[in-house]
Amino acid sequence: MIDLKFLRENPDVVRASQRTRGEDPGLVDVLLEADSSRRAAVLAGDQLRAEQKALGKKVGKASPDERPALLAGASELAAKVKAAEAAQNEADAALDVAARKISNIVEDGAPAGGEDDYVLLETVGEIPTFDFEPKDHLELGESLNLIDMERGAKVSGSRFYFMTGYGALLQQGMLQLAAQKAVKNGFQMMIPPVLVRPEIMAGTGFLGAHADEIYRLEADDLYLVGTSEVALAGYHSGEIIDLSDGPKRYAGWSSCFRREAGSYGKDTRGIIRVHQFDKIEMFSYIKPEDAAAEHKKLLEFEREMLAAVELPYRIIDVAGGDLGSSAARKYDCEAWVPTQNAYRELTSTSNCTTFQARRLGVRYRDENGKPQTAATLNGTLATTRWIVAILENHQQADGTVRVPEALVPFVGTDVLR
Ligand code: AMP
Repeated sequence: MIDLKFLRENPDVVRASQRTRGEDPGLVDVLLEADSSRRAAVLAGDQLRAEQKALGKKVGKASPDERPALLAGASELAAKVKAAEAAQNEADAALDVAARKISNIVEDGAPAGGEDDYVLLETVGEIPTFDFEPKDHLELGESLNLIDMERGAKVSGSRFYFMTGYGALLQQGMLQLAAQKAVKNGFQMMIPPVLVRPEIMAGTGFLGAHADEIYRLEADDLYLVGTSEVALAGYHSGEIIDLSDGPKRYAGWSSCFRREAGSYGKDTRGIIRVHQFDKIEMFSYIKPEDAAAEHKKLLEFEREMLAAVELPYRIIDVAGGDLGSSAARKYDCEAWVPTQNAYRELTSTSNCTTFQARRLGVRYRDENGKPQTAATLNGTLATTRWIVAILENHQQADGTVRVPEALVPFVGTDVLR
């Protein structure tokens, strides 16, 4: 949720942010209206309660003659207070609805537009050239017994798979390497729950426009997370945390579940876009003034991991319309996928500023001891999808795949054959 005080003082900044995202700037006025109606309702309620209190005192001191008229006035006032409280509840609810419609305020400098309007920041590494016809990740995965899509579909349906044998070891090894790097970079490892309460899912901003992406367990009123970011954001909900010694950094290791509702017909081959995958996600709680610098650090940590698995990639500055509701700025790293002749997203790091923490009630004390809303950031350190790029970029003429040196100790072999 955006800061209402900021909105009142800077409505044009929020309108401009809406335009950068391609979202309706008119929603800003709807929210301002809802905010002033709520403030008026609170004021009216406060005034009536003050009157009620004063009248109560008068009744206490009144003579028997005065009392009946005062009591009649008191019951009339009580009815008004009740009505004012109902009006306030209604105004609260209307404010909440209007506030949920406004996405986070885009960081200055983020490109405007949609999915294709990103800005290319950097290209890293050499695109491999093959003197043979390269196979795609599924062909390699099947011929080397690393991935079993057929049985995945038999057991769970389309977009499910088994990672098998060295495929499973490759994934586990990559995640383990990511975990080691995360710890070295000051993150506390976490294995969070993958089922969360609705208020935690809503607080992280995932129940907005893309709510149909999320699996819900109706009988238990719980949601399956699409990323451990959700549980890690909820970890300190309703708390005042100590940020006096620097940020709190967590790295969550979890399976992630996505309905991929809007992706019909897209990436239907292999494990690029699946309903369940594994991920190590970095998550930082930090003072808002330090969030932009932390964002650059998360990107650096992602780069370190991409270098460790020896992948060519590029970094893009994601445009406003593709940020999702919580992010103010997002950088994606996209690895080269030879058989697609294209870069595909492997990581994404977002600066969510105070947007998630405000709704979740995560605060810290400033230097005057006053509670302030914290900022949150997240970033991908490794996912199942990385296997696609690892297999395709490191394949050899004889149909085997070279295991990147950093992963050899985890996988137990330097060539998958
Ligand atoms: P996101 O949380 O949407 O920014 O995604 C983070 C990372 O998770 C992406 O960069 C991909 O590596 C991976 N990912 C996202 N969605 C899927 C999916 N449906 N299947 C496999 N990997 C995915």
